[in-house]
Amino acid sequence: VSSTAEKFDFFYLVQQWPGSFCDTRQGCCFPDAGKPAADFGIHGLWPNYAKCRGSQLQGLARAVLGEDAAALFSAVGRRGRCWPEYCDDGNTLSPWEIRDLVASLDRNWPTLSCKSGRSFEFWSYEWKKHGTCSNLEQHEYFARALELKAAHNLTAILAGAGIVPSNTETYSLSSVGDAIAQGTGFTANLECNRDADGEAQLFQVYLCVDREVKQLIDCPLSMRSKCTDRVKLPVF
Ligand code: 5GP
Ligand code: 5GP
Repeated sequence: VSSTAEKFDFFYLVQQWPGSFCDTRQGCCFPDAGKPAADFGIHGLWPNYAKCRGSQLQGLARAVLGEDAAALFSAVGRRGRCWPEYCDDGNTLSPWEIRDLVASLDRNWPTLSCKSGRSFEFWSYEWKKHGTCSNLEQHEYFARALELKAAHNLTAILAGAGIVPSNTETYSLSSVGDAIAQGTGFTANLECNRDADGEAQLFQVYLCVDREVKQLIDCPLSMRSKCTDRVKLPVF
C-alpha cells in the first residue's frame, strides 16, 4: 500500500433492481447489449467512511446545488466528508484493461440510463468517481465487484424467501432485510424509490464489504432510505 493510499473504512457494493429503476416517472433505456436479465445489476463499489459528521450537509449540498457543487463541498476536509471521491481524475478507465470482463460486465453491470446505451460509460464514471479511491487497479476493481455479486446472489436469496417480482404483491421491508441477512450472513442497507403511481419499491441494496474487499461485514451505518413498511419488487 503506497503512501498515497486512500484511508476509508469499508465499501458499499450497491446493486439496483432494474424494474424499480425503469418504472418511475423518469423511465429507462436498455443498453446496446440488449435488455438485461431480471436480476440485480451493479451500480458501483463505493469506498466509504464509517464515521461521517457531514452526511446531512453533503446530502443537502447535493440536493440544493447539484452534483458538481456537492463534489466541491465534499473536498473541504475529511471530517466533513462521508466518503472519498474523484481521487485521480487523470486515471481513465481503459477498455483494454478490462477486456476479459466485458461480457460479464454487460450482464451484471448494465446501464439503464437514457443518457447513453453504452455501459462502458457507466463503468468509466463509476471508476473515476469511486474506483480511483479504492486502492485497487482497474481490473481488480471490476473483477472484485463481479465476484462479490456472484457470491451473494440477491435475486436468488430473495426468491428463496418467497420475495419474487410482482406488480401487485407487497412485501414487508423487514422480511426483505431478514432474507438478505440470512442469505448473506450480514446486515445490508436498503433504499427505495417510487413507481409512477407513487408506491414505494425496493430500488437498491447496499452490501457492506471490508476494506480489503475480501468479505462482507455488517453495515456500520444506516441510511435514509425512502422505504415504507411494505415495499414492492416490480416485474422487469
Ligand atoms: P444519491 O444522492 O442519488 O443517493 O447519490 C448520488 C451519488 O452520490 C451516488 O450515485 C454515489 O456516487 C454517491 N453516494 C451517495 N451516497 C453514497 C454513500 O453513502 N457512499 C458513497 N461512497 N457514495 C455515495
Ligand atoms: P451516481 O449516482 O453513481 O453518482 O451517478 C450515476 C451516474 O451514472 C449518473 O450520472 C447516471 O446518469 C449514470 N448512469 C448510467 N447508467 C446508470 C444506471 O443504470 N443506474 C444509475 N443509477 N446511474 C446510471
